[in-house]
Amino acid sequence: MPNAIVIGAGIGGIATALRLNKIGYDVTVLEANSYPGGKLYTKDVHGYRFDLGPSLFTMPHLVDELFTLFDIDPKSFFEYSKKEVICNYFWEDGTTFSANGDSDVFIKEAAKTFGESESHLKSYVNSNTKKYDLTSSLFLEKSLHKASTYLSVDTIKAILQIGKLDVDITLNALNEKTFQSAKLVQLFNRFATYNGSSPYQTPGIMSMIPHLEMNYGTFFPKGGMVQISKSLYELAVRQGVTFKFNEKVNHIKVEQNKAIGVASTKRDYMADITVSNMDIFPTYKNLLQDQSHPTKVLEQERSSSALIFYWGISREFPELDLHNIFFSENYQEEFSAIFEKRTIFKDPTVYINITSKEEKVDAPEGHENWFVMINVPGNYGQDWEQLKTEARIHIISKINKILGVDIEPLIMAEHILDPIGIERDTSSYRGSLYGAASNSKFAAFLRHPNFSNSIKNLYFCGGSVHPGGGIPLCLLSAKIVGDLVPKV
Ligand code: FAD
Repeated sequence: MPNAIVIGAGIGGIATALRLNKIGYDVTVLEANSYPGGKLYTKDVHGYRFDLGPSLFTMPHLVDELFTLFDIDPKSFFEYSKKEVICNYFWEDGTTFSANGDSDVFIKEAAKTFGESESHLKSYVNSNTKKYDLTSSLFLEKSLHKASTYLSVDTIKAILQIGKLDVDITLNALNEKTFQSAKLVQLFNRFATYNGSSPYQTPGIMSMIPHLEMNYGTFFPKGGMVQISKSLYELAVRQGVTFKFNEKVNHIKVEQNKAIGVASTKRDYMADITVSNMDIFPTYKNLLQDQSHPTKVLEQERSSSALIFYWGISREFPELDLHNIFFSENYQEEFSAIFEKRTIFKDPTVYINITSKEEKVDAPEGHENWFVMINVPGNYGQDWEQLKTEARIHIISKINKILGVDIEPLIMAEHILDPIGIERDTSSYRGSLYGAASNSKFAAFLRHPNFSNSIKNLYFCGGSVHPGGGIPLCLLSAKIVGDLVPKV
């Protein structure tokens, strides 16, 4: 039986291990941390449970697919429910909008709240669906770096309709052209942050992202987001994948332009194929020092990072749901601070995720677990202690203004994660959440392929390579690697 080494047990690494196991490889996953999941992990802070990284779960069928691959009913390992409300949005002038998970209801209510015509909203939503349908099989489900991808009917269809994809204008320009309401423009601009980009730079094709929320829906896994990585890890162990924790890989061994295995902190391993789930930047800089590097790919601008305050809050807020957004009064300045000035804007958009709304056990009775996140630049050596202190003051002031309550005395427990911590815990270069940013129309083509062009038997999966960051795309990267490796 041929064997495979996977470097890293992030969601992409675990899914790749499952795909390779299914097609007959003997798979060993080497993980630097003491736990599986990478960014998808959990933490208890004085009796409040938090999901540390991802909080929004879309496209659950991609998780289910991994169970059905082994003829296992996903529900026996992993359960989730569809959310009726996608997100509660708040503005400082008192406007609120509860985004319904049913797109017809969303359209009706958005038209009323923002004074737009329903038919206008409907045609925007339909054109987003069209963009997704035209491009998903090309951009998301296949390697963009194999000639065969370009010889398919789907690709020809997408190329013929390129004019409808809005690649030549920014997401903000598209939304401003479409809507009168500045608030609705801001609401739809926010989807650029789903891949760590700026709506003022990312192309209009990114308007396909709301399609995923509005038409596929958003979900919550029973037991929290960590159940995604935990259940897939358990499935992999059950299928015979070997996991070795606290074992960092230091080097990918290459002989005659062929990957032949790795050297870890504990020992050397020979392998027929090697897959790196580690961020592509440190993979080259640290593990492939003596090989030539794809400079253009590695020099791409990184996606944004995050500053998260995990707060135990000593009362409940019925006006809040699982996902809540408190919008900045000046969105453009906020993104200019993140991507141009590399600092934190004094009026940041604040995202509050409260899993105790779904899972009562995540907080003591009558309390809530608040995951309070703002988008921030990557770590370029800024004074993070100073930035964190200032950001905490600004965040609290924003929440106080919108909720009309002083929340400082309600904070019973606190844990903080910043870009330095994200980089330390997962090796993500500069603490970026999604690898490279998609701040140009060519970004999709500049992501690193899922295989090496110069080193045979070396593959890549996870959020820093094609097709991109976020749980669904990491799962798709694993599927693509499964399709690319030599068949057993
Ligand atoms: P990672 O999770 O990056 O894991 C890589 C693993 O490799 C780590 O376990 C690391 O320890 C290991 N590793 C690194 N170097 C080595 C080495 N040398 N040897 C051995 N092991 C090594 N996505 C969503 O879909 N929805 C969200 O709401 C969302 N929100 C997010 C919020 C935050 C705060 C963060 C941080 C991310 C968020 N994301 C979200 C993005 C999502 O978490 C990532 O895209 C995804 O989890 C990345 O998975 P990955 O497979 O690339 O691996």
